[in-house]
Amino acid sequence: RKPTAVITGASSGVGLYTAKALAKKGWHVVMACRDVRKAGEAAQAVGMPQGSYSIMQIDLGDLESVRRFAREFRASGKFLNALLCNAAIYMPLIKEPLRSPEGYELTMATNHLGHFLLCNLMLEDLKNSPMADKRLVILGTVTHNPDEPGGKVYPRPDLGKFEGFEAGFKEPISMVDGKKFEPVKAYKDSKVCNVLTMRELHRRFHDSTGITFTSLYPGCVADTPLFRNHYPLFQKLFPLFQKYITKGYVSQELSGERVASVIADPEFKQSGAYWSWGNRNSQERKAFVQRVSSQARDDEKAVRMWELTAKLVGIA
Ligand code: NDP
Repeated sequence: RKPTAVITGASSGVGLYTAKALAKKGWHVVMACRDVRKAGEAAQAVGMPQGSYSIMQIDLGDLESVRRFAREFRASGKFLNALLCNAAIYMPLIKEPLRSPEGYELTMATNHLGHFLLCNLMLEDLKNSPMADKRLVILGTVTHNPDEPGGKVYPRPDLGKFEGFEAGFKEPISMVDGKKFEPVKAYKDSKVCNVLTMRELHRRFHDSTGITFTSLYPGCVADTPLFRNHYPLFQKLFPLFQKYITKGYVSQELSGERVASVIADPEFKQSGAYWSWGNRNSQERKAFVQRVSSQARDDEKAVRMWELTAKLVGIA
């Protein structure tokens, strides 16, 4: 029996190339995507062999859809070896917040709330799988961390005291700290929540389940469609800037291979770890465990994030 991974947002970018790399390692990939047709075309375009993948519909921004996905996966009878939380949106230019069906700001809803619920639901599937090596991996990013050169750009993430979550996170609230809407900060805040979620999953469940919980920064994959909502000039210059000035650029192919290693390879079986290949990239770079930002390593924040998010997604 092939090991099975669920990958959210496998229809483009890092998720797609991770699916491709895992399939090459002999895994079966369940591509959990909002657009099933696009996912099928993407899998074919990168040459994933028939039988190495299946596609299931999910909209991470819609909590009902997340619940339905989890039910349908369980009904499929597949054993789960790994869950990769990868899908994300980044909407740097919008002036007003978009809202999820539940009324939550859509960047935080998609990147954090949907994945938080999915992790909690699929924890049962990981627990119930008979294999010894089971992993749950959540994509981080350097921009979650102002201690790193790539994270120093403003606006910086700031979860405050979760005033926005405490107030219910619906209209007129749009930010986790309850402050004015800022779409770039919303993305960075959601990625801090992703890292906190991984660390809190590790603290709560690693010893009792043996599941490996990790997060990572695969490098700056500057030409994925993540930047599709930015100015066209930015989309043109950003990859060049990362290739020739910061030297942080990583191809989609290499980013996928890195993430697939974190999911599958024995040397990445260290729960609670945040993996990085550093900021200056080359094919030969070796991964190392990196310290996460001060907010993301704050244990009290992790507990508070968990309690409040659990309420927002209806599992408290
Ligand atoms: P892409 O935009 O290429 O891929 C994002 C994926 O998420 C797409 O498959 C997209 O689907 C999917 N998605 C978006 N919204 C939803 C939703 N509501 N429900 C289901 N799926 C959804 O971005 P990247 O590959 O660059 O980013 C992937 C991850 O990597 C993110 O977590 C990002 O934070 C992280 N990352 C990216 C870096 C980079 O430099 N690009 C650097 C560090 C981390 P669709 O195809 O339908 O749009």
